[in-house]
Amino acid sequence: MGDEIYLDNNATTKPYPEVLEAMKPFYDRLYGNPSSVHQKGREAKAALDDARQTVARHLNARSPAEVVFVSCATEANTLALRGFLEDSGPDTPHVVSTRIEHPSVLNTLEHLEQTEAIEVDWVSPDQSGFVSPGDVESKLREDTELVSVMTANNEVGTLQPVDEISAICRDQNIVFHTDAVQAMGKIPLDVQDPEVDLLSLSAHKFHGPPGIGILYRRKEIDLAPQLRGGGQEGGVRSGTEAPPLAAGIAKAVELSAERQARTADKTTTLREKLLHGLRDVYGDDLHLLTPLENALPNTLNVSIPGSESDKFLMKLDLKNICVSAGSACHSGAIEVSHVLEAMDVPKKIAARSVRFSLSGMNDEEDIDETIRALRE
Ligand code: PLP
Repeated sequence: MGDEIYLDNNATTKPYPEVLEAMKPFYDRLYGNPSSVHQKGREAKAALDDARQTVARHLNARSPAEVVFVSCATEANTLALRGFLEDSGPDTPHVVSTRIEHPSVLNTLEHLEQTEAIEVDWVSPDQSGFVSPGDVESKLREDTELVSVMTANNEVGTLQPVDEISAICRDQNIVFHTDAVQAMGKIPLDVQDPEVDLLSLSAHKFHGPPGIGILYRRKEIDLAPQLRGGGQEGGVRSGTEAPPLAAGIAKAVELSAERQARTADKTTTLREKLLHGLRDVYGDDLHLLTPLENALPNTLNVSIPGSESDKFLMKLDLKNICVSAGSACHSGAIEVSHVLEAMDVPKKIAARSVRFSLSGMNDEEDIDETIRALRE
């Protein structure tokens, strides 16, 4: 992996070399605008269509038209939530979501609550970050239009029961959105199983290029466009398309899906080794925050005794090891992550939380080196 040891793959990932290869021709020969009617435009349009088809096939969408290319998952989440709620029937739609969503979901819904007539009920997770389907169901009302629950949490890695929540929504004719950003390439992903109406992805989280995301939108779901203009992306997301990025995300989807099982096995083994090493160094004072029996295979969030998150992170950074802090210190005050807070993790433990997130590009040496650095 080069000199640095990169253990922050839930933040972003290194692009696969094949992804860069797939993108290259678009910065050279295939630079047309897919909306242009001439040869150059038609070539770019054909490549864009190809990319859309590849994504649709791997996500098991019924039609490529259900794949909307956007700039990132923040945009995908915004288009899903705002786009759907603006276009939905009742004057005051009711929404159910959770307290552990990414800020792009939390802040969008909170903003809609303040500025538009929508009502949101928030479900809290248990201490492992797990959202109970029964708790979601108990919040549903006659006027509930939308449920939004992430597939896997980015900070602690907890997998959510999206199959059961999807079934509840189907039963009650409620639209179901899931932010599946952390799932792609780590666990199997199929929009028919469990059946979802709206699903968000971001290429840079699965070895694709930054700057492009996907909103899968079941074709029965109408969305109000959030960007109006030339009517690209089936009219829901105007703006000249980015064929290089589309080719890049399509290749990343293809490779991540093909390699998913192997990646999961590999990261599970590396994570075990890492945890073993951490326990060796810190003994019983190490506090495990990721529920290993029900979590993404690559994620390990632990509370490290003795050092606050960001200080620990900086010490590792000096040794060229990249990890993420679960809390931050601002002007002397500890700001605990909203996810750990929702999980009711005691402040002292949350303040020392560190997230290691692995990828298929890591190897045993990365883990050995990290443990060595921790011992020092
Ligand atoms: N949703 C989840 C679960 C994430 O982890 C992230 C990024 O960290 C996002 C959404 C937002 O993705 P992006 O920054 O690519 O818009």
